[in-house]
Amino acid sequence: MKKTVSFAKNAANVFFHITTRCNLKCSHCYINYGQHGDKTLPLETVVSWLKLFYEPQKTANLVLLGGEPTLHPDLAAIVEAAGQTGYGSVTIDTNGYLFYDILDKVSPGQVDYLSFSLDGATEATNDRIRGKGCYEACTQGIRRAVEKGFSVSLIYTVSRENLHELADMPSLLKDLGVHRFFIQVIGIRGKSAESGKDDLQLTRRQWEDNVFPVAEKVAESGITVTYPKVFLEPGEVFECGGNVAENYFIFPNGRVYRCPLCEDFPVHSMEIKDGRLQSTPKINEADLFALDIPEGCVMNKLVQGGNISYGKDGKPVCKIACCLLKEEIPAS
Ligand code: SF4
Ligand code: SF4
Repeated sequence: MKKTVSFAKNAANVFFHITTRCNLKCSHCYINYGQHGDKTLPLETVVSWLKLFYEPQKTANLVLLGGEPTLHPDLAAIVEAAGQTGYGSVTIDTNGYLFYDILDKVSPGQVDYLSFSLDGATEATNDRIRGKGCYEACTQGIRRAVEKGFSVSLIYTVSRENLHELADMPSLLKDLGVHRFFIQVIGIRGKSAESGKDDLQLTRRQWEDNVFPVAEKVAESGITVTYPKVFLEPGEVFECGGNVAENYFIFPNGRVYRCPLCEDFPVHSMEIKDGRLQSTPKINEADLFALDIPEGCVMNKLVQGGNISYGKDGKPVCKIACCLLKEEIPAS
């Protein structure tokens, strides 16, 4: 049975890009060097920034990402420091290449999930999007991680380029031994926002006809599935995560965003300067969170409005949910 995962009131989710360096050049990569910097943060800086976002009275969930975070030579020490700081959960998002023998340097007890990105059920489709050799590296990485006792999740970013293979994922997930499945929807940002790529988004029909049945099938096979809500039903209340949740997206140049859809623009509402977390001057993303429009999410309307449809009366057929709002089907 699917359920909407409400925004947690007493939790902070910290998405920490410890480097923007990567060995791949995925066609939908959202890393934007001009806006996020091209640095790999030194261990000492990562450790001190981790402390800036930790509040003992809240559950703090940490996602370490990049670029490719396993390219950071001190990733194991960062995981250790996160645990010592008090983070309640640590996830590492990886493209699967698992540099610096990371599986031998961290233990399943230190990491809640190793989260692998795969964007096709076949080598042909995945490697067209993520690069030659990536399917093999990623699936091998998943098998090795499962063998070593790690909890493994898989993220499949759905676009019109790989929608046709989503239905083949349930059997692949089982074969790989994956424990959780995240279906993500393509965001029109970073490379996807470059000209000529505005036809990647799915319509509501495509989303519902393809994602829901696959999610149910995966859950029936014993794997919990999470995917973004995207389209709100009539009567469902729209909430902007920037107003009602605590999510921080930290980049190596010190910018801290509350909204991922803002990350292509210098509208971050916070930044780390001289080791301190500071608010940025207006106008910034927080001013957008306050706007109330019939389409729901303001940033969706501004940067990726292709998923909005309008009725004959000129009104949107449905509101677009906050991109941070998820729906989940527990394993059955
Ligand atoms: S693995 Fe991630 S960071 Fe690297 S190019 Fe692909 S999307 Fe970008
Ligand atoms: S995606 Fe939209 S609704 Fe969510 S935080 Fe950003 S502006 Fe707010």
